[in-house]
Amino acid sequence: MILRHAKDCTWDGVPVLPYKEDGTIFKSVTRQVLFDGTGDLPVQFRYFEVGPGGHSTLERHQHQHAVMVIRGSGRVLVGDTVHEIGMRDVVHIPPMTWHQFRAPEDGPLGFLCVVAADRDRPQRPSSEEFATLSRLPGVGDFIRV
Ligand code: MN
Repeated sequence: MILRHAKDCTWDGVPVLPYKEDGTIFKSVTRQVLFDGTGDLPVQFRYFEVGPGGHSTLERHQHQHAVMVIRGSGRVLVGDTVHEIGMRDVVHIPPMTWHQFRAPEDGPLGFLCVVAADRDRPQRPSSEEFATLSRLPGVGDFIRV
C-alpha cells in the first residue's frame, strides 16, 4: 500500500508516461499515475512534470482539477488570469475553465493532480476563442498552442 518515492519525483514501479497520447499540443510534459481509485474513491491521482520551457495543453472540460505544486515553480492560466505558482501552492481548476501550465526556462514545474476517474474529454479553443483569450491582459503573451 506504499508507493515508494525513488528520486526526483519518480516512484518505484511507476512508469513515466507521455502526458497525452492523443496528439494534442504540448511540450515536454510527463505523467505518472500514482493512484487509480475505484469504489467510494473514484479518482485518479497523478504527478505531472513540465520540463524547462515546456507547457501543458491549453484546454477546458467539465471535470475539475485539484493541483499541488511539489517541484519547482511556474505559471498557470486559470480562466482569464495568469498566476505565479510555487512549492505547495494549491490550484483549483473549476469546470469549463481554460487552463494551461508553463515551466520557467531554467527548471521544471511538477505537480500532483486529482481528477474524477470518469471524466469528459478536454476541449481545445476554437480560433475565435483563442483570439478572445489572447486579448486578455497578460494572457496573450502566455498561452501557447
Ligand atoms: Mn485539464
